[in-house]
Amino acid sequence: MEQFTKVKNNLEQRGFDVTCFATREEAAAYLTKKLAGKTVGHGGSVTLQELGLLDKLKECATLYSHTAGATFAQAAEAPVYLSSVNGLAETGELINIDGTCNRVASTVFGHEEVYFVVRRNKLAPDYEGALWRARNIASPKNAHRLHKNTPCAVKGDKCYDCSSPERICRALVVLWEKPTGVGRCEVVLVDQDLGY
Ligand code: SF4
Repeated sequence: MEQFTKVKNNLEQRGFDVTCFATREEAAAYLTKKLAGKTVGHGGSVTLQELGLLDKLKECATLYSHTAGATFAQAAEAPVYLSSVNGLAETGELINIDGTCNRVASTVFGHEEVYFVVRRNKLAPDYEGALWRARNIASPKNAHRLHKNTPCAVKGDKCYDCSSPERICRALVVLWEKPTGVGRCEVVLVDQDLGY
C-alpha cells in the first residue's frame, strides 16, 4: 500500500512489526485469527470499537474489557494488549495522551505482545504534526465523547490546555522505538477512517 510505505519503513527501523490492510474488515479478520485462544486486554478506543474486533474476540479469546466489567488490572496483566494511537508520525513516532493512564502504561511495559490499530487519518508528516493532532483533534473529541466538563468538549475546536478537574490529558507517551519492556509490538495500519 503505497501511502503507508514511508511510515512502514520508519516504524520497522524503530523495531515495530507492521501490517497494512485496505479495509477494517480485513484488519479485524487478521487480528481475530491471530489472537484466537489468547488472553487479551485493551484500552479505551473508538478505533477498536469501530473495527468490530472486540465483539469478534469475545467469542474466540479471553477478553478483559473495562467497558464490560473487567478491571484495569486484569487488562494490564493479559499477555496481549490492544490499543490505538492519538497520532502517528510518518517519521515513526507513536503518540498517545491519557487520563487514567492504564492505556499508555500498558503500551510501554509488561505484555508479550502489543498491537496498535491505526487508521490512515491519524497520520501526520512529522512528530510535531502528530502531537498537534493528538492534542487538538483526538483529545477534544474524546473529551466530548466522555461528556467531560472541559472547554474543548464544549467548543470542540482545539485544546485549551485547561486546568479543569475533568481534564482527560494527564500524560503524554511517545514511543520513539519499540519498548524493551514489551515482547513484540505490531502496528496494524488500516487504509480507512476509523475512530478519532
Ligand atoms: S488539556 Fe483540557 S482542553 Fe486540552 S484537550 Fe485535554 S481536556 Fe481538552
